Amino acid sequence: MHLVRLVYASSKGPEFTPESLENVLASAKQHNARDHITGLLCFNSQYFLQCLEGTRTAVNKTYQRIVRDGRHEDIVLLSYEEIYSREFSHWSMGFVPASSLTQAGLIKYSGSPFFNPYELAGESAHRMLSQLREAVPVV
Ligand code: FAD
Repeated sequence: MHLVRLVYASSKGPEFTPESLENVLASAKQHNARDHITGLLCFNSQYFLQCLEGTRTAVNKTYQRIVRDGRHEDIVLLSYEEIYSREFSHWSMGFVPASSLTQAGLIKYSGSPFFNPYELAGESAHRMLSQLREAVPVV
């Protein structure tokens, strides 16, 4: 079965509470481990940027669940491509803390040094996540 990589951006939604991030990560890790999905999630208290890798069927089913979730909104697909290998195979869903989103790192991939994933080209979002891998502990 083909492997694909999907990257999307979204914003904190009306159902987001202080516990949401922890709950989302716990749920994502559990479901993704079951479905052999790997990836990373960035959140800076306003915007999300997430990458999912896995079989086309598993990634599509997961993304359909994610877009129905009221804890975020304005979901925009940035990139979807077939891949030959995974880049985030160490993480069922690794979390990139906002402190890793440095201005120097952001200006490399976008028009400003601020984290706004809607302004990223799909390939820039992918490359930025690839670089951010180094800040995510392998557990
Ligand atoms: P559901 O019955 O939809 O929900 C199961 C439990 O999730 C509920 O009991 C509740 O505790 C919690 N929950 C669901 N929706 C809400 C809500 N609106 N407000 C509060 N709590 C809620 N899921 C993945 O499987 N993989 C991912 O990588 C992933 N990434 C996500 C990234 C973001 C930014 C967000 C917001 C969600 C993500 N999710 C991910 C969660 C996903 O949206 C679903 O909630 C989850 O997959 C469970 O779906 P379900 O249909 O099996 O269960």
